[in-house]
Amino acid sequence: MENNKESHVRDWKDMDYEVLMRIFMTLNMVDFVAASWVCSSWRKVCRDRVFWNRRALDLTKWSPQLTQSSPRMIRFLKYALYLSGGKIGSLIFSFRLPVRDGILINIARRSPNLRRLVLPGRHLQITEEGIIEAIQLWGGLESITLTDSDIACTFIEAIGNCCRNFFELKITCNFSLKIAQALVRHLPKLRRLSLQATRVNKDALVRAVTQLPALEDLNVSHCFIVGGNRPENIQVFSLQQVPDILAEVVRMPRLINCQVFCAKCELVMAWNMAIERWNPEEQIWREDEIPTLRI
Ligand SMILES: [Zn+2]
Repeated sequence: MENNKESHVRDWKDMDYEVLMRIFMTLNMVDFVAASWVCSSWRKVCRDRVFWNRRALDLTKWSPQLTQSSPRMIRFLKYALYLSGGKIGSLIFSFRLPVRDGILINIARRSPNLRRLVLPGRHLQITEEGIIEAIQLWGGLESITLTDSDIACTFIEAIGNCCRNFFELKITCNFSLKIAQALVRHLPKLRRLSLQATRVNKDALVRAVTQLPALEDLNVSHCFIVGGNRPENIQVFSLQQVPDILAEVVRMPRLINCQVFCAKCELVMAWNMAIERWNPEEQIWREDEIPTLRI
């Protein structure tokens, strides 16, 4: 009897591979990583290509306890990238993580197959050299989201030099003439551009539309469009005027813009007119009318 009883006792490590896979598919990244620590057979399942081909490594969904500690978060991220075996295709940083050169390059070395990078934040501490080195390691990059105007031009130039399949850009910092010129010069084959909820210089918008011949989709929803270069001659344009602004353009990309002045338009205007003290970017950069750019 006793022997018969023992023969029915099963060890966790002997669980069926396919069953474990189905269970692990439902876990968030933190629980998923914790599961890999249980035993070598569970870790083997966690390293399966199937997981990583479908999964974005999204730091915004990690627990607040983890994201409050940068060193702990970086260690966790490195381990998750080890589990992925370099197969991760999409990486989404959290807004408040102070990314430095060493972190960016280290992560780039562990994710050579990256196709989409979302790098939000206003206080990134990465240098031109750090950006160039990381982008050289990410030659297959196809899409990027940036929220910091100070580094946007460096990223654009590095991507233009290294990433042949790049086609999709989202910018949620000021879309200036300088950024538009960098796009025209370094990414002339850009097909998709989202500037949603961003302060957009009118001349920069015209430059991008007229001089990016491959541009197919342009999202200017909830934008704050301004003309003039000095405080005394600044002009604000409504989104309904966008087609008029672009009226002279012969080949127009698919334009996504607000048909009415919506609540989000109001929020962006309040921020740009400095009526509101808080910065709404963190709340709105994840959203987008273009499905592939949503978080
Ligand atoms: Zn709107």
